[in-house]
Amino acid sequence: MEKILVVDDSPLQAAQLEAILESEYDVAVARTAEEGLRLARGGDYSLILLDVVMPGMDGFTLLKKLQEEIITQSVPVILITSLSDVEHEQHGLVLGAVDYITKPFCAPVVRARVNTHVKLYHYRRQAERQSMTDQLTGIANRRRYERYSAAKWKEALRLGVPFSICMFDIDRFKAYNDAFGHPAGDRVIAAVAKTAASHLQRSTDFFARYGGEEFVALLMGDSSRRAFAQLQKIRQAVEDLRIPHDPAAAPWVTVSIGGVTTIPKAEHPYERMLKIADTLLYDAKKLGRNKVVWVDEGMKPL
Ligand code: GH3
Ligand code: MG
Ligand code: MG
Repeated sequence: MEKILVVDDSPLQAAQLEAILESEYDVAVARTAEEGLRLARGGDYSLILLDVVMPGMDGFTLLKKLQEEIITQSVPVILITSLSDVEHEQHGLVLGAVDYITKPFCAPVVRARVNTHVKLYHYRRQAERQSMTDQLTGIANRRRYERYSAAKWKEALRLGVPFSICMFDIDRFKAYNDAFGHPAGDRVIAAVAKTAASHLQRSTDFFARYGGEEFVALLMGDSSRRAFAQLQKIRQAVEDLRIPHDPAAAPWVTVSIGGVTTIPKAEHPYERMLKIADTLLYDAKKLGRNKVVWVDEGMKPL
């Protein structure tokens, strides 16, 4: 059931809305704007029904606050106004409410408007998710990586925790495609992604397809030793798949990995660290492939 938040100081009005919607939705009620803000931050609501006139913080102020916060800004808000309140409606719509309903409530109208906006929100979220996911592998795509990496680097900088960047590349993949064909190559990319992703499932782990047969992993909070050990496991797990390669290139499909762990500093931009990881990946190739090459916080090799 999708969740709806009703923010209304009148118990009668809130109970009416609840009665209209509760057969189709999981309805929560907040009696003040402050409580509404707290609930909206914590729950993942598909819609907020917001009374304009409330003692203390009013509906417009809450609407502005909801729109300023990343977690709540995309949740649609429908304003509750009185019939005579044309100005309120206009003001609310300008502020970013998606719609309004007027009191006294007409149940079918309330239901219809709510259903429409919940549906639209659902499709929008689905489209957003799809635009951030790589079709072949189902993991995050480059676009998602670009957004995530910038945000997480900033967070690690603020928290002063170690941050690891690692680049993966499938070894001698051109030879694989030449020997077995592009569709078979695609299946290998998907299998490698699945294997690596299964080792990167903590909420602080991030793994994306960087492009072609290249991947990028970001780890937060791990020491260089732990991150290195984790990536060694992944390298081994890919080798253990024992996917037969073109015998002229290698017995099995393998990956090379380059990584760097650092405590982010304002004077060292993310791009520089990424470049280091990329250079280390190239070193892993030169050292014979199927290797993990890593440097620690002091830029010393592990
Ligand atoms: P190396 O060990 O040095 O990485 O050798 P490599 O052959 O993997 O190196 P290179 O980066 O030159 O070649 C990558 C190849 O990956 C080229 C391309 O044919 C293949 N490739 C890139 N993207 C895809 C994809 O989406 N599907 C398939 N099947 N192949 C891809
Ligand atoms: Mg490559
Ligand atoms: Mg390659």
